[in-house]
Amino acid sequence: MSRIPLVAGRRVVTGLLAVMHLAGTSACTLGPGTDPSISSVSTESSDSAETAAATGTTAPESGAASGSVVTSTDDQSPGVSPDQAGAAVKQLLVQRANALLSKDRASWIATTDQTDPSAAAELAAYDSLVSLRVPDLSIDEPFDVRHLEESAAASAAPGRWQATVEVSYQLPGDRLPRRTTRTVTFVQRGADWRIQRWLGPQDVWEAWDLVGVQAARTEHVLVVGNAPMDTLVDRAAEAEIGRAEVVEVLGQAPNAIVIVPATAQQAARLLGRQDAAEISEIAATTSGTRPSGKPAGADRVVLNPEGWGRLTDVGRRVVMTHELVHVALRATNTADAPMWLSEGLAEWVAYKDVEMSPKLVAASFLARRPASGH
Ligand SMILES: [Zn+2]
Repeated sequence: MSRIPLVAGRRVVTGLLAVMHLAGTSACTLGPGTDPSISSVSTESSDSAETAAATGTTAPESGAASGSVVTSTDDQSPGVSPDQAGAAVKQLLVQRANALLSKDRASWIATTDQTDPSAAAELAAYDSLVSLRVPDLSIDEPFDVRHLEESAAASAAPGRWQATVEVSYQLPGDRLPRRTTRTVTFVQRGADWRIQRWLGPQDVWEAWDLVGVQAARTEHVLVVGNAPMDTLVDRAAEAEIGRAEVVEVLGQAPNAIVIVPATAQQAARLLGRQDAAEISEIAATTSGTRPSGKPAGADRVVLNPEGWGRLTDVGRRVVMTHELVHVALRATNTADAPMWLSEGLAEWVAYKDVEMSPKLVAASFLARRPASGH
């Protein structure tokens, strides 16, 4: 039981959760904190939420953008076809999957172009995957295989190629594989092919793209991120409480996976955005997709450290619980519930142990969604 200290004389003392729903994504947002008692929330954030909803969040499975340096597939390296290049990059990625499976760091390194500045990041990805106990990667057939135009400075360099590939993986606790789209840049030197970077500038990041990622584990919660370990442990404790509140109402809830990046910019990339300013109103977002005809099985609650940092203790608990309601609902349904139901239930569960009247909660919710009809 937590009590929110209300300031006497204020009619609607605090805003609560401003919520927006995007395809496959829900987000709790917050605006400029106006009340120190629960700065989690704002009645002023509906506009930004609506704007963001209209803009839309790039779904993790959206196609990778083609780079400006890409030429047509007709402009290929002498003697090398896109099919051959595609086969080469598939082989490299399968080698990475096998390297991860057998914990063979040297084999992973062997897939990487050690002359490229990205080599350290490519190795860091291996270390993160191992750290997060990802057992394996599933590699689909590459597509959109293109030869990259060489700059004059690189004219002596080997052929550079780009391909897009779907990679699936599971973190401990995932009930289904999580799919992610990777834009892979790779090079050919004679018969030797190497990966330069397997993360394009427009690609949605996964947890293992965070350099220095670590994990905090509790019975039902996995928190991963490159924030300090103390922070991860605190978030795990909050998520355990939130999950228990969900179980109390719904009777069940899946294990929760929470991503805690160190910076807002990293949070943006994890949510398919390019700039932290795009998520400045967001404290936490549930991100994931459903396989066709199945409930979601690999959702992530992604925290924005800037938005989260403006929350009070009560605000953190409310936002976490709210998101975990979404996770639980998405884990048992093959389609999203109507917004009034999912948001209403999420709000109710999140606030049911907070000493705030339903009338006040409802008034705040309506106040920040004046045009939504919800
Ligand atoms: Zn929500």
